[in-house]
This record gives sequence, C-alpha cells and structure tokens, in this order.
Amino acid sequence: MKTDIEALVRPNIRTLCPYSTARDEYKGSVGIFLDANESPYPTGYNRYPDPRQQALKEQISAIKGMPAANIFLGNGSDEAIDLMFRIFCSPGENAVAISPSYGMYSVAAAINDVEMRPVQLGEDFSLPVEELLAACDAKTKLLFLCSPNNPSGNAFAQEDLEFLIREFRGIVVLDEAYADFSSRESLRSKVQEYPNLVVLQTLSKAWGLAGLRLGMAFADEYIIRLMSAVKYPYNISQAALQLASKALSQPVGERLEEIKAQRSRLFDALPSFGFVRRVYPSEANFLLVKVDDADALYNHLLSDGIIVRNRSRVKGCEGCLRITVGLPEENDKLLQSLDNYEKGNIR
Ligand code: PMP
Repeated sequence: MKTDIEALVRPNIRTLCPYSTARDEYKGSVGIFLDANESPYPTGYNRYPDPRQQALKEQISAIKGMPAANIFLGNGSDEAIDLMFRIFCSPGENAVAISPSYGMYSVAAAINDVEMRPVQLGEDFSLPVEELLAACDAKTKLLFLCSPNNPSGNAFAQEDLEFLIREFRGIVVLDEAYADFSSRESLRSKVQEYPNLVVLQTLSKAWGLAGLRLGMAFADEYIIRLMSAVKYPYNISQAALQLASKALSQPVGERLEEIKAQRSRLFDALPSFGFVRRVYPSEANFLLVKVDDADALYNHLLSDGIIVRNRSRVKGCEGCLRITVGLPEENDKLLQSLDNYEKGNIR
C-alpha cells in the first residue's frame, strides 16, 4: 500500500532532499554550541528549537494513545492543510471537499493553484457519500472531510467515513478540530489501518490554545516523514513548545463538560425565540442557528457587544448565524440580548 501512496506524491517532493538543520546533524543537548550561528547570550530563546519537537510529540503521544512517529505538529492545523496540497497536488490536479465546511481547504487549494471541487452536503447537512465519489476523477489527489463539521456542527457516521477512506484512491484528510466536543470516537487510530488517511486535530479548541498556533496531524509514518521534510525546519517556536507542554499537563475535562452543558442549555433555550427557525444539533463548541433575518439579528447582537459569525451568505447556510458557546455568564448575556430583540420586534 505504501507504494500506492508514494505514487500520489508530487514527483519533486518524492525526490526532495530536505534541509538539514544544525540540530539534525548533532542531537546532543550538552556542550559548547558553535554550530548554528546563534547568539551565545542566554535570552531564554537564543537557541533554535527542536525541529522534530520530540518531547512535545511524546507528551501528545501519551495523551492521544498514538506513537510519536505518527504525529506531525504544525503552526495550527492550517499548516497541515497547506502541506497536503504542497505534498500531493500539482497545478492541473484537483481536490474534493464537502461544502459548506472550513474555508481554508479552498483557500489553500487556490494558493497552490489546485482546482477545488466542492460537494454540497445533503439534507440536514448529511454526508453525500456517492456524490463525493462521483466528483473524483483520476486527477483528484485529496478528499477533505470535516467531522464534526464547521459550520454545521454535525458529525458523520464512522462507517460512512471509513467507506470513503476505503473507496477513494487518494488521500482522505479528516479534520477533527472539534472532536473533543463530540460523543463520537476519533478515527485517528485508524491511520494504522488506512495509509491514505490523515486526521487533523488542534490545540486551538478544546485545549484553549488558539493563540499558540499548534495543530496536529496523525497519519502513517510515511506521510508524517513527508510532512516533516516539507515543513519549515523550525515551524514550532520554543515558546510554543514550552507553553503547550505546560498546558497539556493540566487536564481540560471539566471545561469540556461545561462547554457541552452550555451547548445543551443554548440548544434548548434558542428555539423558544419566535425568530429562531431552526437550531441544528451540534457535536462541536458552536451552534448553527437559522433565523428570520440573520443580518438584522447579527447587527442587534453587535450593538449589544456580542459578536457572532454571520454565515447567511454561505451556500447551504442561508439565514444562519454561527454562535460559539461562551462562558455561562456570556451565554446569559446572549440569551438576554435575544430576549430584548424579540420584545423589540413584537409589534
Ligand atoms: N479546522 C477547522 C474545521 C476549523 O474550524 C479550524 C478553525 N476554526 C481549523 C481547522 C484551524 O485550526 P488551527 O487553529 O489549528 O489552525
């Protein structure tokens, strides 16, 4: 199977001779380091960070139950998305993605001069399994799936996802940025079984570290080696490595439970407003809400200092606002503001 994957890699990447850093050439940690043209003055950050991020990978390995060799760390999962195009797609080739979904798949495709073929989700944002396969041709290298999906919030059935991974003759990128909020199991351990599967997760959501920029990809060792060869040598800063290590030693389970409880609270409360037409079930830390006049409600919330995402101009999300679950007191204010809007709207 590895040879099948190798055939999908861009020829220039298959033969790439990656940059070798000073830290690749000498791996010891004690000595007088005169090899990397660093400053000898100890500012705390005068040395380059570990380009392989071994210590942090081992910490993540213990948390995620995945061997470190199956983990890539990037500057957010956005870096991993971009790397997929840089490794697998030449201009003239294409990628398929569910739609609506996370906007960076299309942006990364456009930057890399690769055609993106969006496939509209079905009724109630269901996974259009047959349509996705029908959109693929011999030049389709990547298939982007996102579960739970942004902005719809729903997660897809494991058997449907696995069916696509088995049927598709290219790389399936399964974005699980919101997996920690979902009752469904992550498919990351399936990378042992499927060499064409790349699962993306992030420290930006459940771990509360969006400002740090740390994304993870889980994949077969061969793909991880390609990603490591193509990334910038020092893509994760020393500060990010240290802060992430500290944050990962503190459990986030209670916060996750609170966010899920607040999500249920909003899910139950929102339909009681007359202007709310539909609250879509969510397995993420946000709710997609269809309302009578999305622009008017968006502006009303804004005037109360509450900023939500207006998705009403996204195909398939007409009339929808996407609302992130906040702290209990922030959600109180949201509900209060919606109540005021309703009363103001009653003629
Ligand atoms: N994937 C999805 C589905 C997202 O919604 C987001 C951010 N909103 C990302 C990836 C990007 O995550 P990161 O901060 O790790 O780059």
